[in-house]
Amino acid sequence: MLFIGCHLSASKGYKAMGEQALAIGANTFAFFTRNPRGGSAKAVDPDDAAALCGIVSEHSFGKLVAHAPYTMNACAADENIRRFAREAMADDLRRMEFTPGNYYNFHPGSHVKQGTEIGIELIADQLNTVLRPEQTTIVLLETMAGKGSEMGRCFEELKEIIDRTELSDKLGVCLDTCHVWDGGYDIVNDLDGVLGEFDRIIGLDRLKAVHLNDSMNPLGAHKDRHAKIGEGHIGADALIRVINHPVLKKLPFILETPNDIDGYAREIAFLRENFSE
Ligand code: FE
Ligand code: FE
Ligand code: ZN
Repeated sequence: MLFIGCHLSASKGYKAMGEQALAIGANTFAFFTRNPRGGSAKAVDPDDAAALCGIVSEHSFGKLVAHAPYTMNACAADENIRRFAREAMADDLRRMEFTPGNYYNFHPGSHVKQGTEIGIELIADQLNTVLRPEQTTIVLLETMAGKGSEMGRCFEELKEIIDRTELSDKLGVCLDTCHVWDGGYDIVNDLDGVLGEFDRIIGLDRLKAVHLNDSMNPLGAHKDRHAKIGEGHIGADALIRVINHPVLKKLPFILETPNDIDGYAREIAFLRENFSE
């Protein structure tokens, strides 16, 4: 069974996302836990969250992959920005427990001229502050394109963050195909080699989800501009190999391609047609 979905709007609540997922042939999805560019978070309606959990179990969805706001920067130079990141993540993780046992993906952050060493330390500090032994949510570090001073541009940086986090059993990695490609990992010509490197450095047991995107830019561009499946430099064939790869094929795949909801439905159908059990 291919677990495939896309980003859905949380504006009408949890149950509405589950229904929309069903309507477009998705059996997982991503959603922002709060305004992706701001800070506000709506209170969770427990009945609404329970209704989504009902849909998820009735239709055997894969793990959901919530996304932290883009404004969260755990390794900012400004203490106020770091405090927001800490408080928002702690609050999001409490809210995630209304839909227990899923994933919460975040961008490690940008070190803004402080250097990667400080960046790694500050991100691990934040995780050591907010992770709780009793949480059922696994927090995913997203592989990043390495735009500007973005952290998580290589597997080594993610590994160091994981190693410095006490409750590292609560951590995993979400591999974004556009980002790793932009970061210089050749998933088109050497997917096995890239996954082998991931395994040697981080360990494949940490790999929990995939953001499935094409890229508008060539290998190693460090740009981070997503393209529709088959309309970028990665191409449909390589992305079809990604969803069918034996070490990846059971993971939840989330589309973050520039599409409206009908476009997502078409990409989901296309990928299902090209998936072999
Ligand atoms: Fe992301
Ligand atoms: Fe992504
Ligand atoms: Zn991106």
